[in-house]
Amino acid sequence: MLKLSFLTGFLIVVASARGAEQPNILFIFCDDHATQAISAYGGPLAELAPTPNIDRLAEEGILFRKAYVTNSICGPSRAVVLTGKYSHLNGFRENGNSFDGSQQTAPKLLGKAGYQTAIVGKWHLKSAPTGFDHYEVLKGQGQYYNPMLITNGENVNHEGYTTDIITDRTIKWLNQRDPDKPFFLMSQHKAPHGRWEPAFRHLEFLEDVEVPEPPTLFDDYSGRSKAASQHTMGIADHMGDSRLMLKYSSKFTPEQFQIFDRFFRPKNEAFHAANLTGKERTRWHYQRYIKNYLRCVKAVDENVGRLLAYLDENELTENTIVIYSSDQGFYLGEHGWFDKRWMYEESFRTPLIARWPGKIAPGLVNEEDIVSNLDFAATFLDVAGASIPSDLQGPSLVPILEGNTPEDWRKTHYYHYYETGGHGVALHFGVTDGRYKLIRFPEEGINDWELYDLKRDPNEMKSVYDSPEMAQVRKRMKKEITLLQDHYGVPEEER
Ligand code: CA
Repeated sequence: MLKLSFLTGFLIVVASARGAEQPNILFIFCDDHATQAISAYGGPLAELAPTPNIDRLAEEGILFRKAYVTNSICGPSRAVVLTGKYSHLNGFRENGNSFDGSQQTAPKLLGKAGYQTAIVGKWHLKSAPTGFDHYEVLKGQGQYYNPMLITNGENVNHEGYTTDIITDRTIKWLNQRDPDKPFFLMSQHKAPHGRWEPAFRHLEFLEDVEVPEPPTLFDDYSGRSKAASQHTMGIADHMGDSRLMLKYSSKFTPEQFQIFDRFFRPKNEAFHAANLTGKERTRWHYQRYIKNYLRCVKAVDENVGRLLAYLDENELTENTIVIYSSDQGFYLGEHGWFDKRWMYEESFRTPLIARWPGKIAPGLVNEEDIVSNLDFAATFLDVAGASIPSDLQGPSLVPILEGNTPEDWRKTHYYHYYETGGHGVALHFGVTDGRYKLIRFPEEGINDWELYDLKRDPNEMKSVYDSPEMAQVRKRMKKEITLLQDHYGVPEEER
């Protein structure tokens, strides 16, 4: 197939090997879903809290172990996915910013390439969505029960559990679409973002088990710069009553309140009466947190199953690429934390699983290639057979999906977190090559570096920045930071 397109005034010929029919693109995107809570990734929670439907995607497609984000926080990650550009270029550096919807985005380009485009669920970019034929999005964070969805500019109230409703609305749009055109559909859950309110049907899930604690639950941060010790995202001291479900966040109907309260109240009263202190209190917090988090994940997984069944039943499976990911990873008690933001592995890494029958060989696990949420925009366009504008900063993943990693694929990944003070996390930037990770905390009061050898210290418990034997690595990684900042156009004043 030959396709003609004009790009910056030159006539270029794009050879497309993908045939006449443009595939559908279903992007299922979660909020704060850690790889530790997806059984296809393995780990200590896999058996206890399996995710069979997400695992099905992995069994029928590819799973990436080194998928990283450029800025580990909700809104900024979403802006990167839409634009294929780092935060300093798309303008959305931190939550609370408002996305400039006049800029180039993947959905706009896909619309031009003949796609019907829709987004249902979490948006979290403040300004109204642009470039979609249909949008139906939560206001801000939204809530777990009885959500309001801004539907093409109109506020529409729904009753029920938000994770289920987002899938209901996704399926409704699929049923109403024009079947003669390909679709690009972003189905984006609020879950498992805090505060973790499970579906009623999952309240009893895990109730009688003790979830294993991560080995770093009682990290004292002595092995690194003072940045980590200034956190306010600790399971011990910073969760607050709403995150611990000692108070509830959603505006329940009276009937819903009764069901919820009947489950939590006796346990909460017992907790208050026990007056736990120290590590015992932290351990109770962890159990309460992790169980509710995993219950929220269970609803997500069931709803992934509903979408996969819809594709099967409507003969769409063969010509649809399904991508599952999250806006970033999350701490499930590692380093004593909930939340994200840091460049440490648990929140720097994000799940990435994709299925595309006939293109992606089933059961692939990609252990080594460093891929990024920066690459999603170019990937969507490449899948669609559309031209990829030269200002996108992430390359298409399609060659890797097809099992052919390009020779010049990135060997390092640049990270830059801007939301100073959020949960006590200082501004930082850094680079990793998959083995070593160099992090710079430039702010006055910290002004320090950390260096980790992920092979010897996978839990990142001891910075080896000052170790004499690391001199060469230190030098090489510092140089790499500068090279990448130049390459990506990071402004001088932000370095
Ligand atoms: Ca998030």
